[in-house]
Amino acid sequence: MISVHGLTKVFPGGVRALDSLDLDIGEGEFFALLGPSGCGKTTLLRSIAGLETPTSGRIGIGQTDVTALPPGRRDVAMVFQDYALFPHMDVTANIAYPLRIKKTPRARREARAAEVAARLSLSELLGRRPGQLSGGQQQRVALARAIACHPRVFLFDEPLSNLDARLRLEARTFLKRLQDELGVTTVFVTHDQGEALALAHRIAVMDAGRITQVGTPAEIFHRPATPFVASFIGSTPMNLLPGEVSGDTLRVAGAVLPAPEGLPDGGPIVYGLRPEYTDLSPTARTDGFAGRVAVLENLGTASLVTLEGDGHLVQAVAPEGDEPAVGATVWAVPRRGRALVYHDDRLAGQI
Ligand code: ATP
Repeated sequence: MISVHGLTKVFPGGVRALDSLDLDIGEGEFFALLGPSGCGKTTLLRSIAGLETPTSGRIGIGQTDVTALPPGRRDVAMVFQDYALFPHMDVTANIAYPLRIKKTPRARREARAAEVAARLSLSELLGRRPGQLSGGQQQRVALARAIACHPRVFLFDEPLSNLDARLRLEARTFLKRLQDELGVTTVFVTHDQGEALALAHRIAVMDAGRITQVGTPAEIFHRPATPFVASFIGSTPMNLLPGEVSGDTLRVAGAVLPAPEGLPDGGPIVYGLRPEYTDLSPTARTDGFAGRVAVLENLGTASLVTLEGDGHLVQAVAPEGDEPAVGATVWAVPRRGRALVYHDDRLAGQI
């Protein structure tokens, strides 16, 4: 549905916000652009919308090359972070605005606004102005406006970032259900990995104007392609430890572990292990990382344990009631098949 090829955007002053980027998004997909601040997510979204002119490259929507088309002729609807509602118009007029631009007769556009408003539980609020609405309600009006003229593509820029934590979770579920029901191809920008994992069918992780990995939430979570992606995904950051290949073993922070095949002897590696897949042993293990319990953090149903070893830190999630004491020496033992080994910035194996 959306194809981006060789897209480059250099802003005046020389900032290369997008660097020869390629991306294909399927019809009906809920697709997240995820990455740290400044990696180019918004520039990519705005380029798809037609609000940014690329320096080079092409963008297609459906069968149409839209690279040279103005925003109004791309059949996309964008929802901005600040919702960009008109403060002097009531909810009906805000929702119906794109239809007014398209010169739809008043009766038809008001009927459509009422229909979309009902779907988004806004019927009671049609006569109010944005200033008289809560943040969550304003967000729903912005969504209703986007839906009103049946676009082929929705583009959302950080759609949940103006909501407080609880409302954000509610709005997240609402957005997911709405996209499921409407089935409209949707691209949304977020810097919140939890949001991307929860909402998207697929995620593109961006770094410095390029895409580092595209995959389903499960692929991105379980097989991050690079240490950068690994460090970015997960509610507790992945342990990433430097190590070395020694024959058919890896030496990592004092532990001896089996090496995946095909790595050069003596070569440096990065060893990645999620705290969720790290068990704690009170007795010495050659396949474990020794450390003294420095910090215990309560996660609700479990605790995050930070171990301080000889020159390394390792974090593990310990089940509720099974936490070691602060100051105790324990061994953090990887669960079989759950650790990732990176060589040359690429995933080389899983052990
Ligand atoms: P954030 O999560 O902080 O919104 P982002 O990933 O959306 O970041 P962009 O807004 O796309 O990043 O910006 C990418 C790069 O381009 C940044 O270095 C930014 O400073 C730069 N940039 C964006 N817009 C302009 C502009 N109009 N002029 C010059 N540089 C710009």
